[in-house]
Amino acid sequence: MSKYFAEPFKIKMVEPIKVLSREERIEKIKEANYNVFALNSDDVYIDLLTDSGTGAMSDQQWSGVMRGDEAYSGSRSYKELMKSAKDIFGYEYFQPVHQGRAAEKVVMPMYLQEGKVAISNMHFDTTRAHVELAGARAIDCVIEEAADTESYHPFKGNMDNKRLVSLIEEHGREKVGLIIITVTNNSAGGQPVSMENIRETSEIGKKYDIPVCIDAARYAENAYFIKEREEGYENKSIKDIAREIFSYGEVFTMSAKKDAIINMGGLIGVKDREDLFETVKARTIPLEGFISYGGLAGRDLEAMAIGLQEGTDYDYLQYRVGQIEYLAGKLKEAGIAHQSPAGGHALFVDAKKMLPHIPYYQFPAQTLALELYKEAGIRSCDIGSYMMGNNPDTGEQIESEFEFTRLAVPRRVYTQSHLDVIVEALIAIKEKADSLKGYEITWEPPILRHFTAKLKPIE
Ligand SMILES: *Cc1c(COP(=O)(O)O)cnc(C)c1O
Repeated sequence: MSKYFAEPFKIKMVEPIKVLSREERIEKIKEANYNVFALNSDDVYIDLLTDSGTGAMSDQQWSGVMRGDEAYSGSRSYKELMKSAKDIFGYEYFQPVHQGRAAEKVVMPMYLQEGKVAISNMHFDTTRAHVELAGARAIDCVIEEAADTESYHPFKGNMDNKRLVSLIEEHGREKVGLIIITVTNNSAGGQPVSMENIRETSEIGKKYDIPVCIDAARYAENAYFIKEREEGYENKSIKDIAREIFSYGEVFTMSAKKDAIINMGGLIGVKDREDLFETVKARTIPLEGFISYGGLAGRDLEAMAIGLQEGTDYDYLQYRVGQIEYLAGKLKEAGIAHQSPAGGHALFVDAKKMLPHIPYYQFPAQTLALELYKEAGIRSCDIGSYMMGNNPDTGEQIESEFEFTRLAVPRRVYTQSHLDVIVEALIAIKEKADSLKGYEITWEPPILRHFTAKLKPIE
């Protein structure tokens, strides 16, 4: 690595942002009923709500948008996408779809029906939803180390392969319809999965004759972590590592809104089984559209073809993961606890540690997210008791194991100066943490309440 290392791009087009005054921010968040999802993006200075679909496309991608071939069938842009995807994943067959959950909607019912289970290192919310919509049940099987935020483990996203075997034995081989490997493990905080672990999982799948699906949203970030942290991979290219990861699966579903750096899109890959791909195509046509566009415009296919290549560039990944590591390092210096090691796409601040006097039912992580907005116009979100909601059987508030305020970093959007503002704001909040009070809910819908609930400060 060079002695000099900054953002590996220069800025050709800008989108102005402005910071409202503190008084205005206090007014806006009150109008939003203390729910960050109800804020207008124009009123946000630095938006860390998600890294999904919020990345900045390159000049190459924008020129691809202009070249997009909008033919209904046989489009040139579709061929470009096939070529690019084959180069990266090494699979025979691909099907574009409009986003990750659409890939899940097509693929999950092919493997899962009533009475079956899917086992994953961790199901992302929409993956779990599509497993359940297919009539099956989803079982998470991540290693125990993932729950310990302070301890170091290079691959906290790993599957607990011992437990995987006992789950298969317990349910019976024929009941387990699918093994899903999520890279990186989003729900465990963007934590990577090691190649050794992926290989072991695939061997277990082979032994019991259970197919393996890779949930590939952040496969390039995962490949970068393998290169940096796993013995034997330091001299391999990101693409070589990616191809090896995918060689252990039979099929993949992918949200292209993450590592393919586009604002909308998804992809399904089938390694070599033509019969399987015939079913994918037959299901895609009524659900998403004809096979050569799958719910996307030709220009989107073109941007995805280019974004897939850019997303595997080593300098880009070093900068990308480096941003999260930079934030983590600065917060550590300031004595602000967070999930460690830092994940690939977000930093999870431990709000329980910063606001120990606020009980879970007054939502410490939501309190910190709201304070970040008031302090500096930064939008983040609660991954804690506020998001968990109520027990559906008893109606009681669930006490979450963690109270995280998630800072998700969009790709190629913010500079190191923006990161410094985030750090300064968190330090300022830490200094007055004792004086902060929690929130209570005044209205909530029965499910997924965190998107629309209304809150008020505790007096
Ligand atoms: C985002 C995501 C999905 C769903 O993709 P969408 O494009 O949001 O529909 C599935 N799995 C993982 C791991 C994700 O991060």
